[in-house]
Amino acid sequence: MKINSAILTSANLNFSDSGIEFDHISIDSRSLQNGNATLFFCLKGQNNDAHIFIESLIEKGVQHFVVEYIPANVAGKAHFCVVENTTNALQNLAKAYKNQFQIETIGITGSNGKTIVKEWLNFLLSPDFSVVRSPKSFNSQVGVPLSIFGINENHTLGIFEAGISLKGEMQKLAEIIQPNIGIFTHLGNAHQEGFTTVEEKIIEKCQLFKDSEIVILEKNDWIEKHITAPTFTWSFEDTKANIFVLNKVKNNLKTTLEIQFKDETFKVSLPFTDDISIENAITCISTLLYLKTDISVIKERVSKLYNIEIRLQAKKGINNCLLIDDSFSSDYQSLKIALDFLEQQKLHQKKTIILSDIFQSGLNVKELYSNVIKLLQQNNITQIITIGETIGNYFQDLPHVISFANTNAFLQQFNTDSFNNETILIKGARSFNFDEIVVLLEEKVHETVLEINLDALTSNYNFYKKRLKNSTKIMVMVKAFGYGNGGYEIAKQLAHLKTDYLGVAFADEGIALRKAGITTPIMVLNPEISSYKSMIAYHLEPEMYNISGLTSFIDLAKEKNLNAYPIHLKIDTGMHRLGFEEENVSELISLLQHNNFVKVASIFSHLAATDNLDFKDFTLQQIQLFESISNQISTTLNIQPIRHILNTSGIFNFSEYQYEMVRLGIGIYGVGNSEDEQNSLQNVSTLKSIISQIRTVEANDSIGYSRKFMVKKEMRIATIPIGYADGIRRAWGNEKGFVSINNQEATILGNVCMDMLMVDVTHINCNERDEVIIFGENPHVTEIAKVCQTIPYEILTSISQRVKRIFYKN
Ligand SMILES: *Cc1c(COP(=O)(O)O)cnc(C)c1O
Repeated sequence: MKINSAILTSANLNFSDSGIEFDHISIDSRSLQNGNATLFFCLKGQNNDAHIFIESLIEKGVQHFVVEYIPANVAGKAHFCVVENTTNALQNLAKAYKNQFQIETIGITGSNGKTIVKEWLNFLLSPDFSVVRSPKSFNSQVGVPLSIFGINENHTLGIFEAGISLKGEMQKLAEIIQPNIGIFTHLGNAHQEGFTTVEEKIIEKCQLFKDSEIVILEKNDWIEKHITAPTFTWSFEDTKANIFVLNKVKNNLKTTLEIQFKDETFKVSLPFTDDISIENAITCISTLLYLKTDISVIKERVSKLYNIEIRLQAKKGINNCLLIDDSFSSDYQSLKIALDFLEQQKLHQKKTIILSDIFQSGLNVKELYSNVIKLLQQNNITQIITIGETIGNYFQDLPHVISFANTNAFLQQFNTDSFNNETILIKGARSFNFDEIVVLLEEKVHETVLEINLDALTSNYNFYKKRLKNSTKIMVMVKAFGYGNGGYEIAKQLAHLKTDYLGVAFADEGIALRKAGITTPIMVLNPEISSYKSMIAYHLEPEMYNISGLTSFIDLAKEKNLNAYPIHLKIDTGMHRLGFEEENVSELISLLQHNNFVKVASIFSHLAATDNLDFKDFTLQQIQLFESISNQISTTLNIQPIRHILNTSGIFNFSEYQYEMVRLGIGIYGVGNSEDEQNSLQNVSTLKSIISQIRTVEANDSIGYSRKFMVKKEMRIATIPIGYADGIRRAWGNEKGFVSINNQEATILGNVCMDMLMVDVTHINCNERDEVIIFGENPHVTEIAKVCQTIPYEILTSISQRVKRIFYKN
């Protein structure tokens, strides 16, 4: 892409230096692609303000910024264009950029299926057009403009998705995309918030199609009455639709549809059987029919549709490697995104990429690969492995490159054990079957995984942050392996969110984070005297809770001649676990007076019952005691330490006592202590497994140990390879609990075994190897905890370490 002065001017963006040209638009300070040809937009969200990154971006070489104000410390150090709203400015630039091209566009909206339909249309239409499309699920107010910058003069078709969460947003996206063809996918209940009624949401979505020549959708009078453009509809029931599906037969992992269009009837075969995929496929077929694609071509292409994995996934690899799996797509735009993700997630200095031929760039191959090489060099990739007939030719003269003609050659010739302690990005077009490489490099564990949604974690963090004053610091508790979710990966994400402090229970946990490169201040709740030395070596800050511990620490600080080493004083105000009591205060003060070896970074206490408003008086009494003791210490020592007392439900119920910092725990992991709080949080962890075996069991037989479940009538039973050794409570068995399979609930029958459990799937359409949700949205850990008479904390932290963790961002 190129942005020249003419485009800038037509978007009303003016810089003092004339004749400038940019080849990269960025909004992400972490992207290594930020350089002197980058135009950086400092976006301001509710919770973050990119203006704070300007200084470090100037150091990286960025010289041009679109800003809402010029921070004093950077004035005169770069070129600034000041606008009222940087998001709007980005949108205006995208509009101006798109206007240069004569490209046809398809705009897709709806509540579900946008990304799948976009990816499938890309697959189905690529033989006929040079397609550019939104990368991943880039469909927001910012995502759409960024997608538009992927267009170049050789593209003949753009496929873009548009998602909204508030009134007034679609108008802007419509002006950017200007879709010739509109597609309305499935209307679910997702993202209802922001709208008072479903109808209001539909009206907003239909704004996308205001100037479209046609809108393709499932026939639905209720929606159609809000569409002013002509429509092209399909239906299972209504023969008045343009495309009428006469018949749907599912058989052996395939679905055959009989379709009537104009005066022709034909059959297509789809390689899946779930209804959602079938609907999305019909939407695609309708689009192809509208574009007058031959029916024989449609049949041939839709028979090859495939499951879409659009998420970038970080997986644990062999030999302590970390894999970034992006094995389903290869285009220039998504390569940039994947490289940014690699940089954010990298666990090691060494970065390797396995890259296939790149298709659909719209550029000629020479220009394309020279851009790719530039990109890889900017990103300091240590080793490059190319796979494909074309790509290798352009990488021949570079150091640290190994080339293979195809995936099989790589699999046969390359010794995978030569990968060691590195982060490997695996990025290839679908036809290269890079999933086989992923399988080979992935650490072999059983099929149960705990998936952690880092976007949800961020959203929860922001939810609590919004309840606090801007100046209040946040310590996030990542003890016990991030409440069972993951230590390093969670901490890394929090460091990115600029969390002020991390809290761990033991020194080892902090040391592990430091070894992984986390530099955020870390407080240790239970510093054992034996660990003081290594804590100092790794700059971990101990909680001090009694006189003898403090005396030993001060002695060590003296011996090492430390200067103002940060410590945190814990006051016991009623929890009666750890902490100084009122009667220790004078001795404590005398130990700290005129002591330059240590410095009181903070004074804090822990509340025992913030989740239960019946104990409100007790909580207030604790706070009062904290106030008086902390005052006494601060006044006498003449210091101003950070004070903190609130945990998650404290923030929710007692935010007026936030002092200078709060300690956020369970909430960030998606669990609230009340229904209200829970409804504001997004689900972070999903424990998944698969069906190992399905069998039919006759009446009068029994299921599992001790014949606990007696079969009354013939049943279908599925066995799932997860049991109490993985952290599934036995109390959740014997028909008390359930799992979800294909969105339906399957009751657990009989006793939960050590490594397995059995569920009733008599009423569920499912097959062996189908995915099983053990917990996540449904059932939710809160529900499991209630039935098992415990708390969600215990369920989360009990998930065995033999369960593989997978972290992802959308
Ligand atoms: C674990 C812990 C927290 C966090 O509690 P949540 O209820 O998970 O928010 C805060 N402070 C201390 C001292 C803790 O041990």
